[in-house]
Amino acid sequence: MASEACAAARALVASAHRITVLTGAGVSTDSGIPDFRGPDGLWTRDADAGLGATLDAYLSDPAVRRRSWRAKLDSPVWTAKPNAAHLALVELERSGRLRTVVTQNIDGLHQKAGSDPHRVLELHGTLHATVCLGCGATGPMRDALKRVADGEQEPDCPRCRGILKSATVSFGQELDGEVLRRARLAALDCDVLLVAGTSLSVQPAAGLVPLAAKAGAQVIICNAEPTPYDSVAAVVLHEPVADVLPDLSSVPPSGGGRFSSWGDPSTWS
Ligand SMILES: [Zn+2]
Repeated sequence: MASEACAAARALVASAHRITVLTGAGVSTDSGIPDFRGPDGLWTRDADAGLGATLDAYLSDPAVRRRSWRAKLDSPVWTAKPNAAHLALVELERSGRLRTVVTQNIDGLHQKAGSDPHRVLELHGTLHATVCLGCGATGPMRDALKRVADGEQEPDCPRCRGILKSATVSFGQELDGEVLRRARLAALDCDVLLVAGTSLSVQPAAGLVPLAAKAGAQVIICNAEPTPYDSVAAVVLHEPVADVLPDLSSVPPSGGGRFSSWGDPSTWS
C-alpha cells in the first residue's frame, strides 16, 4: 500500500499510545461470514431470516423461534476461522498500544484469533451464548444447539422452561448498558480510534466515532464504502481491511513516548 492516505494512517499509528479499534461486519467477511446488512446480506436475500432478529416476532411466534434455531445450526460462524484482519489486531495488542476492541460482530472471531477477551467489547452481544428471556440465565450456545441437533425444535431454559435466545442484541432490544458505558470510555480515552469494516450506519455504535473525535482522538476509517462520519476522520481508507490492518499493525512505535511499553515481563532478563 503506497497511497498518501496509507502513509498518513501509518504515521498516526506510529505515534499512538492508546488505540481503540471499532470493528464491524467487513472484518469478518473474509472469514466467510456474510455482512447481514450488506447488498449480499442475509437480511436482503431472505426476509424470513431477519424475522428471528426482531425481539417482538421472536417472543410472539413459535414458528419464528424454530426457524431461528434451525438457521443457527447451519451458521457459518461455528466453523469460521479468524483472518488477517483479526490477527493483525492481536499483533497490535501485543505491541502494547491497542487498549480496546469494540466490535459490532457477534461471531467471537477476535477472541478466537487471540485478542484478550477482557479487551473485547461485544456491543451487539455474542452468538456463542444463550440467555433465557424469563429468568436471565445464560449458558453456552453449543448446549442448546446440541439439543436442536438431537431433534428439539425449540430448546427451552433448563432452569425455568422460559424462552431461550442467543445472547445477541436483536432489533428492538437495548444494548447492554455496562458494555456501552465501557465502549464510550474507550472512545474517550484513546489517542487514535481505528474504525474497520463498518459502514457506521447503526447507532449507538456509530456515535462512538464523533465522541472520540470530539475528545481529541485522531480517527482512521477503513471501509470499502464511504461512511456518514468520514468528515470527522483524519484519514479515510477504502482498501480492504485484510490488507490495511496488517500493514498498520506492523508499524513500529515512533519511540520516545511517555507511555512506551515495558513489554511482556516474562521476556525481561
Ligand atoms: Zn430461565
